[in-house]
Amino acid sequence: MVAPRPRPGILEITPYVGGKAETEAGGPAVKLSANESAIGPSPKAIEAYRAVAGSLHRYPDGACTKLRAAIGRRFNLDPERIVCGAGSDELIALLVRAYAGPGDEVLHSAHGFLMYRLAALAAGAHPVAAPERELKADVDALLARVSSRTRILFLANPNNPTGSYLSAEELARLRAGLPEDVLLVIDAAYAEFVSAPDYASGLELAREHENVVTTRTFSKLFGLAALRVGWMYGSPRVVDVINRIRGPFNVSQPAQEAAIAALEDTEHQARAKAHNDRWLPWLRERLLALGLRVYPSVGNFLLVEFPREPGRDAAAAEAFLERHGLIPRAMGAYGLPHALRISVGLEHDNHKLVEVLRAFLEGPPHAGAL
Ligand SMILES: *Cc1c(COP(=O)(O)O)cnc(C)c1O
Repeated sequence: MVAPRPRPGILEITPYVGGKAETEAGGPAVKLSANESAIGPSPKAIEAYRAVAGSLHRYPDGACTKLRAAIGRRFNLDPERIVCGAGSDELIALLVRAYAGPGDEVLHSAHGFLMYRLAALAAGAHPVAAPERELKADVDALLARVSSRTRILFLANPNNPTGSYLSAEELARLRAGLPEDVLLVIDAAYAEFVSAPDYASGLELAREHENVVTTRTFSKLFGLAALRVGWMYGSPRVVDVINRIRGPFNVSQPAQEAAIAALEDTEHQARAKAHNDRWLPWLRERLLALGLRVYPSVGNFLLVEFPREPGRDAAAAEAFLERHGLIPRAMGAYGLPHALRISVGLEHDNHKLVEVLRAFLEGPPHAGAL
């Protein structure tokens, strides 16, 4: 039978599955599976979103002029060098489409954010994974895998799902070791959560180098995941390229208005950061005290490794948590089947998480399936 055939690579894609929002049994549950903001968005962002309800028949400002100006003010950047997207996911896909195709390689670290691999396959390019050290990107291993076919190197910094990051110095060394015609995309989706003094989001590198782009999002600290708003900052040349291929109205007006209001509400941002600063270390200490392996994280989530014994493993823990109304993220798709990724929640949820995991580890072994 003759039927339309997709381009090579597309059928190799296992569609991305987001964090579950409901347990198998249904009923009320706390979603700790998607690294969303525990405290939610700024009330001013909600207000701004509602305020445009009367103008839904109007096309959005396709250039995101006010939003780019607001981002520029907030981060001290030239708005002309910013492109907004329907989430940073859209920008990741556009960057791959613009710079890589069949025969090209897209490099990422072994447990890097999954979208890089999927975007590469969707464009017909070949994803190449470089090994990590202790679940942290390894600059030398990445550079060693650069070939004449490499077009893009993606680095999530900090990385999801591992929570690890490269220091400003390591990042600069990675950039310096890359050929000038390889695009380095620094995905800093969690930058606003990081306090480490040796961290840099990559904006400075992108300001100075033609081959560096950074991507950011309103989905995490700003708490606007539902609206799909992200942005990238790069050289005028890269910005021009992405503007040629993006959809002309890729960010909706309610999303633009809410994002501007969220940016201006610096108090709410400080609350979100303070919440994470308090509960991320608290959770990590409590989970370590339960005897679990918990990777250091500078994001708003923890990667937690479970014992490899039946009844105490990650699959059993996931089922047990779900039965108690808590939804973690299984990590099989990331090649980490012994781990769960757990987002920082509200105070009550964090306490509940620790108590449920204590019961799981100290009680009789549990069945893996519900
Ligand atoms: C959540 C996340 C994104 C995607 O964010 P959107 O802007 O919602 O598309 C990108 N990169 C990493 C590493 C993430 O964890």
